Parts: sequence; C-alpha cells; structure tokens
Amino acid sequence: MTTVEDAFRWARIHAVRHMAACEQAGMRWGETSITEVVTSRAAKAMTVMPFTQRAEALSGADWVWWWVDSRGAYGMLVQAKRVTVSWGKWKFDFNYPDGTGTQRSTLMSAAATLDLLPVYALYLGTGDYRSWEPRTSGHRSGRCLQCVKRSVSLMPALLAEALVVDDAASTYERSVALEDLWEPSTTDALIIPAIQEQLAPELSEFLTNRQDGSRAVTRSMIDRVLRVRFGEFSAATRGDSEVRQGGTHDRLGPVFSRVPADTGHWGMSYFEHMLTPLLHAPPRYVLEVMSGDFVEDSLAAEMPANVAGIVAVRFP
Ligand SMILES: [Zn+2]
Repeated sequence: MTTVEDAFRWARIHAVRHMAACEQAGMRWGETSITEVVTSRAAKAMTVMPFTQRAEALSGADWVWWWVDSRGAYGMLVQAKRVTVSWGKWKFDFNYPDGTGTQRSTLMSAAATLDLLPVYALYLGTGDYRSWEPRTSGHRSGRCLQCVKRSVSLMPALLAEALVVDDAASTYERSVALEDLWEPSTTDALIIPAIQEQLAPELSEFLTNRQDGSRAVTRSMIDRVLRVRFGEFSAATRGDSEVRQGGTHDRLGPVFSRVPADTGHWGMSYFEHMLTPLLHAPPRYVLEVMSGDFVEDSLAAEMPANVAGIVAVRFP
C-alpha cells in the first residue's frame, strides 16, 4: 500500500526528472506534461478521473482536487502555471488569454460556480533552473531538500498577484510545496488583533490548534493568506461576523458558518473565500468518483467546460 506521502514524493521526483531532461536538451517543458507526470505518479494513493472526451481539446485545463478524510473534505480547482526565470525575475502568465478572457478569469469563475478554492499549481523547474535561490527560512546550503520540494508548489489564486509575485522570496512565501500541503500545522495562524475578536470560538480553535488531514490542507492555504493580510497596514473591516447564505444543514455545507467580513485589499471576505470549500463531508460527485460508481459523461456535463477531470486524495 503506497502512502500519500510516498506517492507525492514519487510524483515530485519524476516531475523534476522530466524538467531536468528537457532543460538539458534545451527544450521547454510545458504545464500539461508536468501535470500528467504528477497525477500519474501519485495515482496509487488517490483516485484520478479524467474527462477523456475533453482531454484533447483542453491543453491548459483545470483539475478539481478534493482532499478527504474522516472529518471532512477540502476542495480546490487547480490551474498549472510554470515559472519563467529571466535575469533573476520570476514570471508567471496568470493572465494568459484564453478564448473568452484570461485563464485566470476562467479559473476564478469556474471555482466560484463549484464552491472550490481557486489554486495555482506552480511548476518552478529544477533547482538549477532557478539558481538554487533559497527559501527565506529553513534553507540549508546547496541542493537542500526543502528547495527541491518547491519544484511543485501550490498557491491560493488570491495571492497570485503578478506585480508582487516576481521573485523567489515572494513566490515561496505565498505558496507551499505540494508534498508539504497536509503537514500538520503546528503554529498559530497570524491574525491581526481586531480580527481575532471577530472569530467564532470554533474558528479560533481551528486557527490556533494543530490540524491534520483535510484541515491541515485548509490551514496550509489560509495561513498564507492571513500572513499577507497581517503584513498590510490597513485596519480590519468593522462589522459583525457575517452569516453565510445557504448550507444551513449542520452536516452538509461548510464547516464554519460564521466568518469575519474583513476584506483586506482583495475586496472580498477572504475568510469566506478560503473556508467555503471546507465541508463536513465531500459532495456527492466526489463520493461517486471515489467509489467508482458514476457515469463519466453525465458527471462531465455537470462541470464547467474548462475542467479536465477530478482527483480525490483520501488521508487514512
Ligand atoms: Zn533550500
């Protein structure tokens, strides 16, 4: 039995090998090939359900990812983006045009439709490609494992601001290595005091206690947003905690029903944006995919056109 940890380490090792082979041959590797390597190599520890009818038409397509355990599930819509490093500047084409707008706007609107967190899978090339530029903390000299792991990283789309994310430090600060995504969160999230006062007790507990599995994945994402918010000078948005619409049944819908209304500079409740995809139990279509009890065509018909398939990772 392959563990989730082993499967994703294996996936990263093969992704880096492919990047290295292309770099040595003077070829530019693409997002689609790395996505194929990562999902196929990690497939032993998860359920992968490609929409085969769409696969050929959609080269830069997005994948639905669910992280599932006995306590609940966290859902993402993931779009792959490679870095281009030039004279020390890092560039991601977040706003690359697609048929109707940009790849980013397509990602954001599809994620909102499905109540998923929009996320970028950042493919950062080999350590050599990015000159072994160190992470801001925990870096050991030379080819350290922490840096190697960063070749495949995840960043909440909320933090993928092209004017800010343009070097190693900003990219690393706002993202997490894919294989560290579910690492138990052992430190408290950074929260400005005015917002701490607005937190419902369960949410406060969630942000200050150790979390595992799907909730650790959620913390990996929201902690980075809270850290960026902590670094801003603007005061917290005043007002009572907002009450979400819908999802009134206790066991369905989001885990946290009352979240602060603070918007930071994003112009939306980032708590709601980050936490709506955390559910007590995965949606019906995820359960169907995990049990193998589904009809591909009807499932695909329920999804926005840019979705290439569904991945479900189950933690023991
Ligand atoms: Zn390092």
